[in-house]
Amino acid sequence: MAMTRRGFLGSLPGVAAATPLAAQQRERRTGRGSIKITDLRCAIIGRNPVIRIVTDQGISGYGQAESTKPYLKPMVLFYKNYILGEDPTDVEKVMLKIRRLGAFKPWGSAVSAIEIALWDIAGQVAGVPVYKLLGGKIRDRVRAYNGGVRFPMTGQTPQDYADNMAKMKEAKEGFTLIKQAVGFHNPAMMRAMPGAWYDEPRTGAPHSDRGLMTERGLEHVIACVEAMKKVLGKDVGLALDCGPGWTVKDAITFARALEPLHITWLEDLITGDYTPYPNADVFREVTQSTSIPIHTGEQIYLRQNFKDLIEKQAVNIVGPDPEDVGGIAELKWIAEYADLHGILVAPHGIFDGLIGLAAHVQMAASLPQNYIGFEYPVGQPEWWYEIVEGLPDPIVKRGFIDVWDRPGLGVTFRVQAAKARLSEEDRGFFD
Ligand SMILES: [Mg+2]
Repeated sequence: MAMTRRGFLGSLPGVAAATPLAAQQRERRTGRGSIKITDLRCAIIGRNPVIRIVTDQGISGYGQAESTKPYLKPMVLFYKNYILGEDPTDVEKVMLKIRRLGAFKPWGSAVSAIEIALWDIAGQVAGVPVYKLLGGKIRDRVRAYNGGVRFPMTGQTPQDYADNMAKMKEAKEGFTLIKQAVGFHNPAMMRAMPGAWYDEPRTGAPHSDRGLMTERGLEHVIACVEAMKKVLGKDVGLALDCGPGWTVKDAITFARALEPLHITWLEDLITGDYTPYPNADVFREVTQSTSIPIHTGEQIYLRQNFKDLIEKQAVNIVGPDPEDVGGIAELKWIAEYADLHGILVAPHGIFDGLIGLAAHVQMAASLPQNYIGFEYPVGQPEWWYEIVEGLPDPIVKRGFIDVWDRPGLGVTFRVQAAKARLSEEDRGFFD
C-alpha cells in the first residue's frame, strides 16, 4: 500500500516528535518562522548587474554578475516567477527550479548570481558566514591572484611587457601570482607583429582571432613571456591567459618552449572565454605533451560540463567562475571532484565585482587543498569601494585576504551612497 512520506516518517518512533521540535528550536534561535522570497530585483550599478532577493522577514541577499554583462537584467528577471514564495534557505530546492534554465557564459550568470544571493540569505538567517554552510573553512586567509590590477602599456615589445610586469610586481597588494594575457588572448600583442598567424584579424566577438601561428608570431609571444618572467624571477608566479584559438601543435610547441621557465599555468589555449563547449579530448592532447599545467573552465556552466575535463585528465587545473558556473556551491562541488582526480582549482573572477569578491572569499575558505588562488576582482568604477561595506582595508595583504566572520557574505551596501549611483530605471532597487 502506498504511504505518504509524512505518514511513513510518522510511523518511526521519535521522528514525528523530532521534526516539530527542530523547527521550534530554529524559530527560537532565529526569532522567526518560515521565510519566503517576495521579490527578485536587478539593477545595473556601474556596469555590474546586481541582484537582490527580498524576503518577508526583512532580510535581503545580494549577488552580482560580471561587469562585462550590463545587458543581463531581463535574463535575471526571467527567473522571478520560478522562485517567488520559496524558502531561500533551502538553497538547493530553489536551484532545482532554475538551474536547468541556464547555459554556458554568458547565459549561466543570472542563475549563478541568484545562487550566491540565496547563500547570503541562508547565512544571515543561520547567523553564520557562508563558508560555514559550505562545510566550514580550512584556511583563515585565501590567496588571490592578480588578473585585474593593471597599468597602461607603453608598447608591445618584450621590453614593454617587462616594464609593465615590474609595476605589477610592485603593486601594493603584493600578489604572489600574476596572470598576463598573451597570444590570441592579447590582440594587441598579436597584431603588433605583422603576419603573426595564417589568418586575418577578426573583429566583433571577444577573442575571435585564431589559426596557425607563423614562426615570427610564435617567437614574439615567447620573447614577451621570457622578458616578463625575468622580471618576476622566482619571487612571484607567472600564469598566462593564452587563447582561445591555438592549434594543438602550436600550443604544444609553445608550452615546451616555456618549460624551463616554470610557468604556473597556460589558460584556455584551445577553448575558453565565450566558447560554448569544453573540447576535453583536444585539451588532453596538449596536457599530455607538456609539463606546464594546462588550465581552462571560466566559461563553463555546471558540474556536468566539467565531467569530461576531469575524468579524462584533460587539464591539470580547472578555473570555473562562480558567477558563470552556477554559483559557489556548484564550484565547490567541481573543486572536490577535481581533487579526487588530482586536478587543481584556480577560480576565474576578474570582472565579478565587490559582492563577487565576498562570494569568492567565502567559497575559497572552504575549498579543498587543491585550491591555488582566485582571480582578484577589482571594483570599477573606483566609487564601488564607497558603496560597499564589510571588506577589509586594505583588502589584499601580501597576496592574501583574511577571511571574515560576519553572517552571510558579510558585505552589504551603504544604501544612501549606493542609491546615488542608481539609474532612474533602477531607482527603487533598495526600497
Ligand atoms: Mg581567461
